[in-house]
Amino acid sequence: MTRMLIIGPPGSGKGTQAERISERLGVIAISTGDIFRANVKGETPLGIEAKKYMDAGDFVPDSVTNKMVRDRLSEDDVENGFLLDGYPRTTAQVDYLDGILADGDEKLDVVLQLTADDEELVTRLLGRAQETGRTDDNEAVIRHRLDLYHGQTEAVVAKYADRGILTRVDGIGGIDEVTDRVMQAIKEAQSA
Ligand code: AMP
Repeated sequence: MTRMLIIGPPGSGKGTQAERISERLGVIAISTGDIFRANVKGETPLGIEAKKYMDAGDFVPDSVTNKMVRDRLSEDDVENGFLLDGYPRTTAQVDYLDGILADGDEKLDVVLQLTADDEELVTRLLGRAQETGRTDDNEAVIRHRLDLYHGQTEAVVAKYADRGILTRVDGIGGIDEVTDRVMQAIKEAQSA
């Protein structure tokens, strides 16, 4: 049983690493960014609401995001664990997730933070923009997303560090190399 979070700045490769952790540990990876993007694509009411914020690089409001996560975590496939990618990003979301977990008498095992230098991230994201055409990958928006990460999500990381469940992994390097570090860090955290 693993219940874990992966947190990292935009461009740190958290989505890629989340998929690999999910395969190796057999837990479902849930990316709030992917759920939002699927809704934007499907032009659902949630997608139409979220798109305004996503295109500007802003956070979708907590009320919208929290409800979406509560609904997703109430599905049967997460009974044996999950890996949340991209949530929580604000301290209010941490409190909300605490509430969801407490309702189910559950707790988090590991919170993994992928670290990377801002300038490296900007370069990576500008490259990704050319490959994928993601509308939130232009330089001004990228810098805004990084500012939000430093301004808001680092406080989330600090909360989990205080609880003693945070493990940090250097996200710079080849994808396989980072995966090796990530898997090692999870193993150590779980046996601690
Ligand atoms: P990501 O793919 O994780 O970088 O997320 C893409 C975008 O989706 C973010 O820039 C936000 O606009 C939105 N988003 C994803 N997760 C959250 C969250 N936990 N809280 C608020 N907005 C989010």
